[in-house]
Amino acid sequence: MLETTIAGSLPRPDWLAEPEALKGAWKLTGEALEQGKQRAAEQWIRHQERAGIDILTDGEVFRRHFVHTFLEGVDGIDQDTKTVMGIRDNRYDLEVPTVTAALSRPAPIHVDEFRFVRSLTERPLKFTLPGPMTICDTIADAHYGSRADMAMAFADLLNAEAKELVAAGADVIQFDEPAFNVFFDDVNEWGIDALHRAIDGLTCTTAVHICYGYGIEENIRWKASLGDEWRQYERIFPALNASRIDQISLECADSHVPHSVMAILKDKVLMVGAVAVTPDRIETPEEVAATIRSAMDYVDPERILPCTNCGMTPIPYDIALGKLQSLAAGAKIVRDSL
Ligand code: ZN
Repeated sequence: MLETTIAGSLPRPDWLAEPEALKGAWKLTGEALEQGKQRAAEQWIRHQERAGIDILTDGEVFRRHFVHTFLEGVDGIDQDTKTVMGIRDNRYDLEVPTVTAALSRPAPIHVDEFRFVRSLTERPLKFTLPGPMTICDTIADAHYGSRADMAMAFADLLNAEAKELVAAGADVIQFDEPAFNVFFDDVNEWGIDALHRAIDGLTCTTAVHICYGYGIEENIRWKASLGDEWRQYERIFPALNASRIDQISLECADSHVPHSVMAILKDKVLMVGAVAVTPDRIETPEEVAATIRSAMDYVDPERILPCTNCGMTPIPYDIALGKLQSLAAGAKIVRDSL
């Protein structure tokens, strides 16, 4: 009960990549880089085990970016044709690659790195992949003509990748869909259909991570504009509760999300964000325990997985480590009291 997990990403160590950046450049090359990624992943696996996290991830340390690294393995994308695009409904502009032909996946993308991580631990492992809607909000389209059609094409590729990850021993496949918290009508019209296509036939537990984004400046500014009560989740939770996805995440630490929205997800397991992804402060175990107890006003502890609010890529390494330890310690406080 109250098994802990994390949203997915953890900081890459400063000897491997430029720290505290979303797409920080690698500091190594060639074989040294490949060995460095493995060493960084092994260190995070041991940190998670020692902290007492129950469902582990590779920290996504093999990837420079949670969407673009996947896209580098997909054919049909012109990486050199850059299009300036407003991301998350124009919250910020980015130069992104362009889809110029039918999409295909000529070879597995993350399966080798997952096999390596699987060899390191007996504990349950979750593997994260970008969700189809979020991919479509991170790349320009000059081929499909509609985001929904392009999302279905990506969902098929994600499904093939996920099936191979499950065959290699993944216990949970999670799709990251921060865009779900922006395009509410699209989620209801085709976003969940795309997710269903991505999980079709998977024999493992499935999850979707939805959030208010990393603790980067653009997101912090956006969150400040959302008012005292963040009710965005209400627009999509009814359809998600009716979906075939097993686990849904939400931000509960240091956020203005009314905890009553959890009551909508009455048939799901909830990844309850109990540590924020702020770069400057580590929650105490008691604060984590208080957040979990607050969630228990609406959800039985059997359906709660204490979790991080979002990925921790852009925050300092030691802060992320401290947050992991507080997350596990806070969950233990509550577990011991039940
Ligand atoms: Zn997130």
